[in-house]
Amino acid sequence: MTDWYQLAPDQVAAELGSNSRTGLDQSEVADRRTHYGPNELHDLGGRSAWAILTEQLFSAMIALLFVAATVSIYLGEYKDAVAIVAIIVLNAALGFAQDFRAEKALAALKRYSVPNVKVWRGGAIDVLPARELVPGDLVALEVGNLVPADCRILQSTNLRIQEAALTGESEPVDKSITAIDSAVPMADRTNMAYLGTTVAFGHGQAMVTNTGMTTELGKIAHSLQTVRPKPTPLQTRLGILGRSLALTALGIVAVVYILGIVAGADPRVMLLTSLSLAVAVVPEGLPAVATVALAIGARRMFRRQALIRKLPAVETLGSVTVICSDKTGTLTENRMSVTVLDIAGHRLDLTEHLRDDDQGTAIAEGSTSRTTDSCPRIDPDDPQQLALALLLAGAGLCNDAELKSPKQGEPWKAVGEPTEAALILAAARLGLPKGELNENFPRVDELPFDSDRKRMTTVHVVKPTHCEGPGYRRSAVTDVLAHLGDVERIAFMKGAVDSVLSCCEYYWEQGAPEELDDESRARIVAANDQLAAMGMRVMGVSFRPLDDLGLARSDATDHDEVRPAPPRETEEAHIFVGLIGMIDPPRPEVRDAVIRCRQAGIRPLMITGDHPLTAQHIAQQLGIANGKPVVHGTELAAMDARQMEQRAASTSVFARVAPQDKLSIVQALQKQGHVVAMTGDGVNDAPALKQSHIGVAMGRTGTDVSKEASDMILLDDNFATIVNAVEEGRIVYDNIRKFVRYTMTSNAGEVWVMVIGPLLGMPLPLLPLQILWVNLVTDGLPGLALAVEPAERETMHRAPYPPTENVMGRGMWRDIAWIGVLMGAVSMLMGFLYWYHGFDAAYWRTVVFTVLTLSQLGNVMAIRAERDSLFQIGVFSNLALVGAVALTIVLQFAVIYIPWLQSLLKTAPLSLRDLLFCLLASTIVFWSVELKKFLRRHPTYASSDS
Ligand code: ATP
Repeated sequence: MTDWYQLAPDQVAAELGSNSRTGLDQSEVADRRTHYGPNELHDLGGRSAWAILTEQLFSAMIALLFVAATVSIYLGEYKDAVAIVAIIVLNAALGFAQDFRAEKALAALKRYSVPNVKVWRGGAIDVLPARELVPGDLVALEVGNLVPADCRILQSTNLRIQEAALTGESEPVDKSITAIDSAVPMADRTNMAYLGTTVAFGHGQAMVTNTGMTTELGKIAHSLQTVRPKPTPLQTRLGILGRSLALTALGIVAVVYILGIVAGADPRVMLLTSLSLAVAVVPEGLPAVATVALAIGARRMFRRQALIRKLPAVETLGSVTVICSDKTGTLTENRMSVTVLDIAGHRLDLTEHLRDDDQGTAIAEGSTSRTTDSCPRIDPDDPQQLALALLLAGAGLCNDAELKSPKQGEPWKAVGEPTEAALILAAARLGLPKGELNENFPRVDELPFDSDRKRMTTVHVVKPTHCEGPGYRRSAVTDVLAHLGDVERIAFMKGAVDSVLSCCEYYWEQGAPEELDDESRARIVAANDQLAAMGMRVMGVSFRPLDDLGLARSDATDHDEVRPAPPRETEEAHIFVGLIGMIDPPRPEVRDAVIRCRQAGIRPLMITGDHPLTAQHIAQQLGIANGKPVVHGTELAAMDARQMEQRAASTSVFARVAPQDKLSIVQALQKQGHVVAMTGDGVNDAPALKQSHIGVAMGRTGTDVSKEASDMILLDDNFATIVNAVEEGRIVYDNIRKFVRYTMTSNAGEVWVMVIGPLLGMPLPLLPLQILWVNLVTDGLPGLALAVEPAERETMHRAPYPPTENVMGRGMWRDIAWIGVLMGAVSMLMGFLYWYHGFDAAYWRTVVFTVLTLSQLGNVMAIRAERDSLFQIGVFSNLALVGAVALTIVLQFAVIYIPWLQSLLKTAPLSLRDLLFCLLASTIVFWSVELKKFLRRHPTYASSDS
């Protein structure tokens, strides 16, 4: 195997049949795709079909059924034995189908989490899913990226990679391009980047050497494949509940057995009956239904643009009490457009000029007309206009967005981070297109933007020869530089105004640097506040020639040699040029989402890196502000844990926060017992995302690292989507509770039938196969259809339930008790009437059997809503359930009226009159549950009753 790290960059490209500047030839790609297959690890962490089937076959219930079948053979009831085996097969098939579908749905969702990568093919750059990569591909590595495959680094600008996941090294490793002579272990291969690691700093280019299972991670992936996903907290709780209920049920079954014996039944028949009852009443389906409901929920959330990465998030979402949201892109549209330029008090309003076409078309994309007729012209003899050119040149050069070269007459397009895209569009609009700027001032060093520093600095070489090119705009900046003397390198900085000002000692006034005194500083801050209070994002721009200007400090570098300046100096003694105000409109749907949040007992909170006044303005527009003052990041830094908790309890807007402040805010909220959802997009947001109950990453603008740390990804970056996901989470939990209520009440009904019969001095009210049948048809289909029950009217009009709530809490035990007794009593009373009037056993048992089954169907329709009546929510609002109920009725009629099923289940055909009588009786449960809900809706009736 080639040791890629021992080869020089060009050798690597040659060996891989690729090109280190233009990437793979398009014509090569298809062949390599076929040869190497997709770049993915084989296993997606799910269970195989075989594993699901084995789990189904080795469940406690199947074991019970096998014992029942054996006992039947022992009793000589061969038909019963065959029927029980058929039931085993049906049960296993149903369970398998549910689980398999759930697993498939989750696996499909996982596939959407695959990151995208910037790739050069045939010289053109494209963004592709990492799965598409093949060896030889030239890829970009940018801060926050997951390294998409094993690669040899070909270009590095301060590139540092976090390799802890693979090598255990906790500090990010500096990466270079230099070949290494000798064989070294993986941790020392400083010119390689491996799948599964992340870019912590800087950026670079790399060539893919290995993909998928041939990567270093792929080699150890076999051990990863065996890791089974842990059950969610709710699944665990349901599992525990199911086991304790099973024990209780078995106790009851023992009682039924004894009662039967006392009533004179054959002990062997009683054994079979008890076993069948055990099968019927053990709530074995609880965790399985939770899995199905969670999977259905995750799929529904996906349809509403929320991609679930970790299944427990589905259930936790329903309990969220606070949503902490970023501002930019989540509450606002992230469609930035530059509207104001401000230099030394001279303000240029661009809204007029950029009105029609500066509204970007998509995230990270904007446009502006290439025609410059309507542009404000910059007069090179006017110092203020020259300052404008300097401002825009700085904003354009200290910028990673790219202008897409349009055809003549077509609008400019920019690709990159929206703030940066807006800046280069404005610069282009005023005659300073990025390409030309880069050509005249190539970048040689940089200190990238991060949300802690809130600024970015780049160092550029000044190419004097280019200054004489055509068009004055190109020379506008160089004219300025001419004022400054013989400049060879220049640093530009842009960022939050406070952050940039902290690096400035001068400001640009009338074509020359002036000392930045308190007065001028205050003037700049006031201008910043004024724009921010209008809801604008304001950026400051400054610069500093890095050669001797008489401004540089004593530690200025040797300027004979053009080389990058050391970082410390690069951000010192800057000259402040001016302010750029940008508008980013609030998302129109967020206002409603905020209202829904409040109705649902959830507190929306804005946590932004932006200026407090900008934050407040937007918060007010969206209804998030609560009248309390905005808390500034610096205030947070000075607070102790208790103060932090107090502020977190009362404040709705936190501004100028650093990512680590988000972590403290989450912790403070959690200490108060809140269930917190927190959004984040940057690398540094990962700790807060992990700490929160629901970490929410941005699908469009988020870094891979933040996505990896999250529980849920917003595919549209939209706050309203979080609220929709909360609603879906609540629906899932409600539906699981409905299923529990339904199965438990129905099981209780079956037990009561078996208990009441002998107490009335009757023979066994139901035969073993009849019990199994009731269980199969009523639990199976209608129970499952409850998992797709739509939202109730109340779902988002009530406070969230605590995530640790007992699933059977809030009166469910009471319901199980009284509905169970009622169902058992009605069925047995009907049976008793027929038994008493001398009907034969097959006939009166068929009556019991039919009333019990149909009562359960009435029950399932009534408990669809916790509060509203079936007629309010609409009989047909869950068609799956209506279909399941109809099918169950047909099956029930089949076992009563089809002769061979009659002989199998020992039923008798009921006369029309008796059938109608049974139908009527079995609606009693339905009406009783409806009455209870009516009294709940009208408490005055309930209290006047009592
Ligand atoms: P939110 O946290 O709500 O998304 P935000 O996007 O404003 O807010 P950050 O991205 O941390 O938060 O930005 C903080 C500040 O840094 C911004 O207010 C802006 O002044 C400045 N800033 C943002 N992007 C850049 C950039 N690309 N270069 C320089 N400065 C930037």
